[in-house]
Amino acid sequence: MYKSPALAGKICLVTGASRGIGKAIAAAAAFQGAMVAINYCHSEQEAAILADSLQKQGLTAALFQADISSTEQVDQMFDEIEARWGKVNLLVNNAGISCKALLTDTSEDDWYQVMDINLKGAYLCTKRAIPSMISARYGRIVNIASVWGISGASCESIYAASKGGLIAFTKSIAKEAGPSGVLVNAVAPGPVQTDMLNCELDDQEIRDLSMQIPLGRLVTPEEIAEVCIFLLSAQADYINGQVITVDGGFLQG
Ligand code: NAP
Repeated sequence: MYKSPALAGKICLVTGASRGIGKAIAAAAAFQGAMVAINYCHSEQEAAILADSLQKQGLTAALFQADISSTEQVDQMFDEIEARWGKVNLLVNNAGISCKALLTDTSEDDWYQVMDINLKGAYLCTKRAIPSMISARYGRIVNIASVWGISGASCESIYAASKGGLIAFTKSIAKEAGPSGVLVNAVAPGPVQTDMLNCELDDQEIRDLSMQIPLGRLVTPEEIAEVCIFLLSAQADYINGQVITVDGGFLQG
């Protein structure tokens, strides 16, 4: 990974950065010079390995444990980041869970669990981060949605609804906070081979899925991270309220 000062001096919180896409975004933001708050919920060891590896390369990163669906834990996490470095000015709402089941096999608990993490978590972190961004007339928020939030997906109705909601939330806050210099965008990845996908599909299903993608392969976490870094950087200063699909041409029309 290349080092650059593109995000130097910025304080960047990445939720769900212990594994998968969030881990790649956190690492990329640190390589761009940001002070990176690595949020995790359960995977302390993975998060610690990431922080340690970044610190050993002379980059600035630290761990902040919180379940982002809890108001109290989100508040405490922001308090701890502010005490250590100052106010968050780059926020990546990445943490999420999936729920693969026929609608008739899902429970009300499934609904609340997915919505609480995928949608309420982004709401809580955004609500806590945005007042200081507005005061500073500077802030960048990137929400990690999904192509399923655009197209819908069989056996993923709750998940798709949470991501569709996240897209509407993105566009709404972009309108509300844009006049104050806070830009809010979403990235909608196609299938990415992380723990999330590996829990849902076996190797043959992943091969079959890859064949439906015009580029013939899944997108990597690092490729999603590159797009996030662009949206967080000054190069994207006129991009607001957009959903950038990164899916190799999977969704068209
Ligand atoms: P993953 O490998 O399963 O990682 C999920 C991350 O979210 C972990 O770091 C996990 O932290 C964190 N997390 C889960 N619940 C949390 C909570 N309550 N509070 C804080 N952190 C929590 O998933 P991924 O594939 O990287 O997915 C990352 C994002 O991309 C998700 O929003 C997902 O919906 C989206 N996405 C994924 C794909 C895909 O195909 N993989 C495609 C489109 C969009 P701990 O392990 O520490 O608990």
